[in-house]
Amino acid sequence: MNKRKNNGYKKLGKKHKQSNKPQGKKNSAQATRKGDKSQGKYSTANKRRRNKKTVTLEVTCTGLTNEGKGIVQWEGKQLEIEHLLPGETAEITVSTSGRYVDTELKRVITPSKDRIKPICSYYYDCGGCQLLHMNEQAQERFKQETIDKLMKPFGKPAPILTMDHPYDYRNKSHTTFGLNKERQIIGGLYAQNSHQLISMDRCLIHDPKADEIWQTIKGMMKSFKIQPYNEDTGKGFLRHVLVKVGKVSGEIMVVLVVSSPIFKGQNNFVKALRKAHPEITTILMNVNNRDTSMVLGNQEKVLFGKGTITDTLCGLKFDISAKSFYQINPVQTEKLYAKAIEMAQLTGKETVIDAYCGIGTIGLIASQQAGRVIGVELNKDAVRDAIRNSKRNGVKNARFYQGDAGKFMVEMAARGEKADVVIMDPPRSGSDEAFLSSVVKLKPKRVVYVSCNPVTQVRDMKYLVRNGYEVKGIQPVDMFPQTVHVETVAEIVLKKEAGA
Ligand code: SAH
Repeated sequence: MNKRKNNGYKKLGKKHKQSNKPQGKKNSAQATRKGDKSQGKYSTANKRRRNKKTVTLEVTCTGLTNEGKGIVQWEGKQLEIEHLLPGETAEITVSTSGRYVDTELKRVITPSKDRIKPICSYYYDCGGCQLLHMNEQAQERFKQETIDKLMKPFGKPAPILTMDHPYDYRNKSHTTFGLNKERQIIGGLYAQNSHQLISMDRCLIHDPKADEIWQTIKGMMKSFKIQPYNEDTGKGFLRHVLVKVGKVSGEIMVVLVVSSPIFKGQNNFVKALRKAHPEITTILMNVNNRDTSMVLGNQEKVLFGKGTITDTLCGLKFDISAKSFYQINPVQTEKLYAKAIEMAQLTGKETVIDAYCGIGTIGLIASQQAGRVIGVELNKDAVRDAIRNSKRNGVKNARFYQGDAGKFMVEMAARGEKADVVIMDPPRSGSDEAFLSSVVKLKPKRVVYVSCNPVTQVRDMKYLVRNGYEVKGIQPVDMFPQTVHVETVAEIVLKKEAGA
């Protein structure tokens, strides 16, 4: 099977990607964000291009893309307009240069009843959230319809599980620092797809305490003579502040991401920060001296506390380190995991594979109702956390391995090992053929597929359906309110004749 190169598997993924792109170049319609919020003006792109021709049009929006952009037809092309809603008429500009098309929403002429004034004043500049101009019902409808449409080949998904208080939910946030024109220190987030730092004091989906902490750090920088890092010159010291909050435990981790291991006044800085925020339970320094858009570097030093935080999820305790992945919305994660465990239909005897297991959360929760659990994960820190977490919870029937999930499964299949249930939770790019073809060989009765990207999930589920499986149920969960992202969990079972 692996010999079959170009068997369409990889190509399919690419095709999906392309079909989601706006006109012309990738993300040309969202390259930079400009807009006057108070005037109700909106986005978007304005790249300088040669021979650019701009026209102003009055258009009617006919629907939404999977990314929540308004669809408009123009000269036989489909344009995607940020922040435009179905049924609305609006004035837009369309700038064309060669094959590039940039669009900008100038004015909404007849607003939809779903439109609301965004409660965040940075919304049109930041781009981290995409749905704040829609009321809650419209957001829910948009997410449900998007998932229903994508999952159509497999049947009708269940109603999306929404969040009662869809704000303040992120347990992890990072802030970047810089200087404004007046050379004052500012902190905030990069506008999406750009290196333009948006100065802000509060992000409505962050944990409020996390925002308070980085504000304090920003205030301390001058007196401690700490310069913000400048990406262009490579000068300066503080690059980012990462804050992780245990929503149940109340434990808080602060990671100071710096450009050099020499931190003058380190002890006094830590003392002052702890005095201002006694609720902080651990402080780390992470050295990132590379020219990269990755937040964390490789070198890490604990300045205070144990270097990890602990949180409770579905009744178990989890240690979380600076680098390892942990779901960012624990309230909704409990709903997601409960659904995943229900779909696994465990009786206490099964061998369960927890693939792409992170710090072992799903596997350890499943271990209470399974015979044994085998977890596999690429990230070393996460595997170390998973092993520690299994000890901390007194779990005796789970083993965790570091490695590529696809390779691991190929080896399992080659050894002729058996698995009854595979729970898989891959990153946005989805799984790969090595993994899926091994699932088909191992023939587990059930596959529970948790995904943060329904497009790659559909691609992977089609592979399983072509190879003897059927999709029994799909549950969308709103893990990322105010943004276009949706998490889904699918119940996939081996058809009787395929298992025989
Ligand atoms: N199941 C976990 C983590 C899901 S996120 C949870 O719910 O918390 C996806 C995880 O897949 C990340 O931890 C990432 O490090 C891991 N990962 C990415 N590529 C991988 C690969 N090729 N093989 C194994 N794990 C991988």
